[in-house]
Formats: sequence, structure tokens, C-alpha cells
Amino acid sequence: MPRDPDPPPAKRFKPGSPFSRLDKKKPGMLLPRAGHAPVNVDAQRKQLPIYQSRTQLINQIRQLHSAVFIGETGSGKTTQIPQYLYEAGIGRQGIIGITQPRRVAAISLAARVAEEKKVQLGKLVGYTVRFEDVTSSETKLKFMTDGMLLREAIGDPLLLRYTVVILDEAHERTVHTDVLFGVVKAAQRKRIEQNKIPLKVVVMSATMDVDLFSQYFNKSPVLYLEGRQHPIQIYYTKQPQSDYLQAALVSIFQIHQEAPASHDILVFMTGQEEIEALARTCRDISKHLPESCGPMTVVPLYASLPPAQQLRVFQPAPKVPAAPQTLTPHAEPVLALTCCLCFTGVQEGGSLHKHRRNLHHYLRHQIRDRHGDGESQTLQSRCNLASVILQLLALGVPDVLNFDFMSKPSPESLRTAVEQLCILGAVDRKDDHVSLTPLGKKMACFPLEPRFSKTLLISPDFSCAEEVLTIISLLSVDSVLYNPPARRDDVLAVRRKFISSEGDHMTLLNIYRAFKKVSGNKDWCRENFVNSRNMGLVLEVRAQLRDICIKMNMKLESSLSDLTNVRRCLAHGLFMNAAELQPDGSYVALDTHQPVAIHPSSVLFQAKPACVVFNELLHTSRCYMRDLCLVDAEWLQEAAPEYFRRKLRATKS
Ligand code: ADP
Ligand code: MG
Repeated sequence: MPRDPDPPPAKRFKPGSPFSRLDKKKPGMLLPRAGHAPVNVDAQRKQLPIYQSRTQLINQIRQLHSAVFIGETGSGKTTQIPQYLYEAGIGRQGIIGITQPRRVAAISLAARVAEEKKVQLGKLVGYTVRFEDVTSSETKLKFMTDGMLLREAIGDPLLLRYTVVILDEAHERTVHTDVLFGVVKAAQRKRIEQNKIPLKVVVMSATMDVDLFSQYFNKSPVLYLEGRQHPIQIYYTKQPQSDYLQAALVSIFQIHQEAPASHDILVFMTGQEEIEALARTCRDISKHLPESCGPMTVVPLYASLPPAQQLRVFQPAPKVPAAPQTLTPHAEPVLALTCCLCFTGVQEGGSLHKHRRNLHHYLRHQIRDRHGDGESQTLQSRCNLASVILQLLALGVPDVLNFDFMSKPSPESLRTAVEQLCILGAVDRKDDHVSLTPLGKKMACFPLEPRFSKTLLISPDFSCAEEVLTIISLLSVDSVLYNPPARRDDVLAVRRKFISSEGDHMTLLNIYRAFKKVSGNKDWCRENFVNSRNMGLVLEVRAQLRDICIKMNMKLESSLSDLTNVRRCLAHGLFMNAAELQPDGSYVALDTHQPVAIHPSSVLFQAKPACVVFNELLHTSRCYMRDLCLVDAEWLQEAAPEYFRRKLRATKS
């Protein structure tokens, strides 16, 4: 492996201390507001902290194969470094690719850089995200999501079209980005070995915690950029706030009245429902404010919003965006309110699909003032390594067990993941050699967890592909059920008509069918506590999955009113998540033999079904099964006789 024989020590740039220079100015005086006065983007570029180190930076990067670059958010890393490289003639033979974890970021950054370079988007500067390619043969600066570069690597493992790959926001890692890092690193090494044009790799991050990246990319030097574009002042509440929603509201309107109209307010909330509720309240209150306060535009922002709506936060207007995660910095001063809640994101990696509930289990708990109700959830760290392995095999990685992961999974978890894929019939394993089966190849075409793609692929055998498509789509987005705690009794009353004694999947299916019957009528949704926006997403996801099925020539039939086949199909796909009633009334998971319980949110909570399959386990004070489906024990046996014989032997010994 080629290594820099004597890696240079970490460099610390001091670009004329722009921080102290800017600090003297009042916040709000730095930049004219976009959309109000004509904005001179050239002048803006020169005000960025990074501008002072431009020459030094270019000289450094010119000499390096790999570099890790740290600078505060807003210092100009993402928008400027690609331009500096291009302007200095670095990597002109090919494309400079910049990857982003999020789709909106890729789009808005490309638009910003095109504006700065005064070119039409899609020419010199472009972007590719899923289902959208705004590039041309002229494109040299290409913003893209991690997933898109990974897809390109399937056809072009050496990434020969690229001369520079910038892995941005490296601190926001998912298993998905980990795979991309491995693929980029391998491409870089092979190109040197094969005497091809070298691939430069720049890793960028806003956090100091970059040793791992530096180590991974052959001990590449770490370049620091000091300084912030905007001065930051932090204010704390004097006491912990028991009602943080109320406290946030009071602060929002205090700021709205006192701060200049050009200032934006960014509020961080814990999730979609809270964001929507706060947005509604802000709109209501702002209607009754005196004219002197000026208008307020409220823009919600969360991952499951349609992309066009997410982009609204970048439009110039006085506004209160509410966001569960950080935004690309604005040109205007932003007042951020955070409610001191911390998120633990459990990432289930490998999937290229963004509308996935399992991808973002935001488990929340208050940092101060932690609830004493015992519901504080522990992290379910079982990441879905099986999807990652399947994806790597589809990428043509020959030796998956020895893939160069940045954070290596334990051999134990790798073995379990491969074994799961074997049991599902997706891979063959001979000693240390793992290969995809024809079924596995098909499974990898779906942006789903392996067990769900398998369920979908076998559904034609049970003549119920339409129903399984619906169920999997429903499970792939945030809940379509709206459960306002204050109206609990009303919710229970209207939901009763959909409830199926066959479990949660069938109940969801009933709700979906009723929704289709009224053509998604908004009033119906309101009356039935159905989240119409998430239902809309279900339709989108379903259409995408259905397209893939059609391309594969799958027979799409409906089982109509007889749902036995649908349950049988679920049993055949989810048999590894099965549990059986014990004589004492408790449940035991058949895979691990651990005691499990039915989650109170399940429609089967009061029932005692003899045998069920479930979607996931939630570890709190107990181990709860969520989303259950009633099945026959014989179906499990017929689905995987060998697997259950082994399990039985394991209990007896
Ligand atoms: P970093 O990557 O270091 O966080 P960026 O290069 O993304 O910084 O941003 C630098 C500056 O460019 C921001 O502070 C802002 O002034 C401007 N900028 C970035 N993105 C946009 C955008 N989409 N619209 C307007 N201005 C932007
Ligand atoms: Mg950035």
C-alpha cells in the first residue's frame, strides 16, 4: 500500500485571524440580505475565512494524495475548495466530485457554486441525486449524494471519470458512507498500482474528531482552518424548562419583535410531529401580532418532506424554519434555538432508500431533567450489516469478509450478517468465499433491508404481490398513524373499524385500502387520524418499488379479501423474527430464545396469539416486539425447515 514515507505534521492555518476582525462588527452587519439588495457574490467569497488561506491550501493539496480538512461550519469549505482546485488547474483532466450525505445539501450547494461561478446550473457546475441528474459533458464540479457515487462505482470501480473526490461532512457517517470511503480508498490505491491518473481524496469535516479519517487514508495530513464567518453568542435559560415547546415559542416571538427583519430564526425540534405542531402555532400567533412586528414566514424542515418543500428554507424571506438537523449555513445571520434534547440515531445502513423508518430511530431523551418514567430507551445498536454485505457483493467487492471498513465490524457480527444472508438464500458461502446467489442479485436491486426484499420477491408465489408491496411501503416511511395524546379516546374509537385480529400489518393494510377508496381525501385523513403527508410518501415509495418489480417481470397479483396468503408470505420472509407463546403466557423469540413481549402499541397487545412474526425489537425496560403479524407455526417450518431444526437442537442441548 503506497504511503507517504514521512507524512508532514498537522498544519494550523492562521488566516489573519478573521474571527477577531469580524467579531468587532455587529451581527447582521456582515452581509447584505439575499433578495433585498443586489448581492456581490465575489465580495462574499473574499470575506469567507477560508479565503485568506487560499494559496497555502492549494499548494498543500497539490502535493498530497489525500488530505483531511477541518473548519467550522460556514468557513467556506464546501463551496470554496472545489472552486479553488478547479481555478488552480488541479484535476482539470476529469471531474471534481463532492459528496454530501443529504440530497437537499447537494442541490443547494451546486446552485450556490454555479451562482458564484456565474454559470448556468448543469454546465460547469452540476449535481446528481437519486432520480435527478443535472450535469452535462461540460460538468467539472459535481455535487452528489454518497449513494450516487456508490452507484457509479458499480459500473466504474476505479472512478476513472474523477480526478478528485471530496468526501464532505465526513463526521455524519452512516454505514453507507463507510462503504463509500472503502470504495474510494480502493480506487485510489488501484489507480496508483495500474499507473492511471491518480485520484486525489479530500475528506472534510466540521468536527475535530478526525484522527480516524487521517489514519484510514494512509495517515494523511490534517489541515485546520481557523475562524468563523459569523460571531456566535450563546445564551442559556437560567433554569431547566419543563415545557420546552412553550419556552421556544416565547423566545421565537421575543426575537421576532426585537431583531431586525432580515434575521432568520432556526429552531431545532425533536421530530416531525413536534415541528408541524410548532409551525402551526407560530402561524396562528403571527396572524394576531401588530403590523409593526412585520410578517413571519414559517417553514418546516424534516427529512420526510418532499425535496421541493425542503428547499423552501433557502428562499429569501423572513421566516422561522424548524429543523431536526443542521442546515447549510445561510448568507444572513441566523438565530438558532435548541431545546437541549439529544438524539441518538440508530442507523441501519446499506440501504439507498431515504424514506425508511428503520433508518432513523430517533431515540430521544432529555440531557438535563431526564424523565423518571423508565421509558428511556437504550440504543438498539444492531445495525443492519446484512444489507451492507449484500450491497458490497453487488458492487463486485470480491472478499467481503476482509473489506477495508473504516470502523471494522466485529468478526462475530460479520459472521452473523453473512449467516443471515445464507439463511435468506441471498448468498452462498464456501469456506471464506462468499458469493451472491441469483436470488441475492435480485434482492440487491431493491433499496430495502434483505428480509423485506426477499418477502417482496417471493410474494408472486403466494399471489399477493400487490398487498406485500403496500405493506412494505407502509413500513418504509414514518408512521402513517397520527396519535395526538390529547385525543386518545377519539383515536381509539375511529381506529377500531380498521383493526384486524390478524395483526398490525393487516391493520395498516386496511387503513391503506380505505385511504385509496376515498382517493386520499384530506378530510377523511383528518377524521381518521391518518397522516396524509406520510400516506403520500407511501404512494411514492410504492410506485418506485413497483417499477423495480415490473422491470424484473414479477407477476403482480392481488389476493383481494383473503389475507391468509399475505400472512403466509410474511411468515416466509420474516421467519427469523418469530416468537411463540409459552405455557406461562409469556413469549420467546425463536431465533435467540430470549424472552420478548408484545408492545402496547400493537393491535395484538390484549390478545394471546400462539405464534407471530414481527418487524423489530425495541429494548426498553423489556424487550418489545413491534408490528406483529399472526402466523401458523407450520408456515415457519415450511419456510425454513433446516433453520428451525437447528434452533430446536440448540434448545435441547
Ligand atoms: P462550510 O462547508 O465550511 O460549512 P460553505 O462553503 O457551505 O461552508 O458555506 C460558506 C458560505 O457560503 C456560507 O456562510 C454562506 O454565506 C454561503 N452559502 C453556502 N451555501 C449557500 C446557499 N445555498 N445559498 C446562499 N449562500 C450560501
Ligand atoms: Mg460544508
